[in-house]
Amino acid sequence: MRKQIVAGNWKMNNDLSQTESLLEALKSKERTTEAEVMVAPTFTNLLQANQALKSSYIEVVAQNMHFAENGAYTGEISSSMLKSVGVKTVILGHSERRAYFNETDELLAKKVDAALANEIRVIFCFGEELTDRKAGNEEAVVESQIKNALFHLEASAFNNIVLAYEPVWAIGTGETASPEQAQDMHAFIRKTLSGKYGNDVADNVSILYGGSVKPANAQEIFSKPDVDGGLIGGAALKADDFFAIVNAF
Ligand code: PGA
Repeated sequence: MRKQIVAGNWKMNNDLSQTESLLEALKSKERTTEAEVMVAPTFTNLLQANQALKSSYIEVVAQNMHFAENGAYTGEISSSMLKSVGVKTVILGHSERRAYFNETDELLAKKVDAALANEIRVIFCFGEELTDRKAGNEEAVVESQIKNALFHLEASAFNNIVLAYEPVWAIGTGETASPEQAQDMHAFIRKTLSGKYGNDVADNVSILYGGSVKPANAQEIFSKPDVDGGLIGGAALKADDFFAIVNAF
């Protein structure tokens, strides 16, 4: 049985005191579903967040990492550094990393390897741009992103991978993929995985949808059979909204 997951990607928002307030608010909320709940604060607040959530089921995850273990990479953070502050999961390949920081599939393949080698679970993000969808190329783009970054892995690696389909045109735009568009793409992703790794891997990997998920649309999106939860940006910054989404299954 694959897991239902709701992960809040805080992006470059919330300084230390804002992080503490939001975590306090999240801790006071009630979860009425089985969903795993994660929040991704910025690097500087990971340690504090982990301490604040020590006795909570909410997991603290990182938004990015470098592939090297250590060394001359000014400004970067390694998987073992994340581990040393209690992080067990990292988001990789977010479209903002791809667009603003030139992260390619090849680079992401190395990051995925480094995370898995250090027993850090990966939430791997991908998704087409608006021009791809307008041209009817969304499946080809998604397929190549998955193949290039993940298809060198053994089947067992997928025990530690969560996929996050995030159409770029739906991120932070208020424009959500329709539940049917999300379902169609998630089914296609599962078919792509099954072609390479078989049904076991394809059926057991959790596939999250991301892109303008809100309390008002979460239930319909999560009701689709191949959608196992969401990666939430803007709506993750308010405890009420985030928990309305956590409880939308
Ligand atoms: P959004 O962001 O919910 O604000 O659209 C989603 C994401 O970037 O993960």
